Amino acid sequence: MKMSGYFDYNATTPLSDGARDAWLRASERHWHNPSSLYREAAMTKRKLDEARQRLGELLGCEPERIVFTSGATESNNALFTRMGDTLGKQTRVVSSSIEHPSVREFLQRQFGSRVTLVKTTPRGELDADDFTEHLARNDVGLVTVMAANNECGLLQPWRDIAELCRERGVLVHTDAAQWIGKLPAHELGACDYITGCAHKFGGPKGVGFLVMRDEQETLSFLRGGPQEEGRRAGTENYPGIEAMVVALEELTPKLAGVALEQSVMRDDFEKNMLTTFPDLRIIGQGAERLWNTSMFVLPHGDNRKWLARLSQQGFAVSTGSACSAGHDGSSVVLSALGASMDEMSRVIRVSGGWDTTAADWRALAETFTAVSCKMPAVATTRG
Ligand code: PLP
Repeated sequence: MKMSGYFDYNATTPLSDGARDAWLRASERHWHNPSSLYREAAMTKRKLDEARQRLGELLGCEPERIVFTSGATESNNALFTRMGDTLGKQTRVVSSSIEHPSVREFLQRQFGSRVTLVKTTPRGELDADDFTEHLARNDVGLVTVMAANNECGLLQPWRDIAELCRERGVLVHTDAAQWIGKLPAHELGACDYITGCAHKFGGPKGVGFLVMRDEQETLSFLRGGPQEEGRRAGTENYPGIEAMVVALEELTPKLAGVALEQSVMRDDFEKNMLTTFPDLRIIGQGAERLWNTSMFVLPHGDNRKWLARLSQQGFAVSTGSACSAGHDGSSVVLSALGASMDEMSRVIRVSGGWDTTAADWRALAETFTAVSCKMPAVATTRG
């Protein structure tokens, strides 16, 4: 589906045509409960297992490792619940300071002071020396670092992290909700645990998965029926799962080309923005970022006013920090990336999609320029 003014793909994506067709087909033909014992139900169960097999191929992991969930939040919460039950009481968890709240807040609740956050470089990348130093401690049992950041699009070196963890015998998890569907995912299976969700890549909302280390591992987050081989209670959402897998199957062969083309358009957009706003600060500039994401601090004007004016002109962008706001309105992630409170009130995130055109990016930059004249010239600080 083409949506020229929509630049909030990191928040969620429209359902792809293929995913919609797959969902409808599955809902019409295979709506039976896969746990029931008659022929139609057995067919739904077979279809479900085939979808698991196909997803395993896309992620480079054995299908038996995949547990379907309601989305990335559940996957993260379920994993850390398990880790809380299975890791030793003195065991530490290493993570980054720019994780999604479904990781950061749950880790905090589950492990408290046993969580170590690795320092970030001024560009937001994980500080490799600091990471190696933490990993060298003998009491680390789990490392969890996201693959791609939802706010500024920073990519984290999950392959290197997985390798280092394997050498040390430490478990490694990556929240790849923003990576999957935007960059090739077939090597992710090297991580012990992977989180993903459909609505970030053209699949339906309320469907996701957690890849576990092996098929023997249990989850106790949801209790009830013995679905998902006893690992996740609740009737499987086969139509949603089928639509998710189709969405990813359709995107995967296109990803390399899309990444090349789209990153040029995003970079041109940033150049255009810098021409209009020479003082614009692009967060994560120079570091490896998702091809679709640009997050920046505007030189003036409250970001909510920018959002409202852009919305009047048909453009949907984001302040990027809605779900990482602290109690004082500050963003945990932005402060880790070195933004002051004043700058946080001027931060905007734009995130394009697979079909966003150069004309769409240009129109967005032009609208920022046009709206700029209507914005107060002096920086505003939120109370
Ligand atoms: N993890 C990351 C990195 C995300 O970007 C998001 C969604 O914004 C989530 C987890 C939560 O995903 P869901 O909406 O499927 O629970």
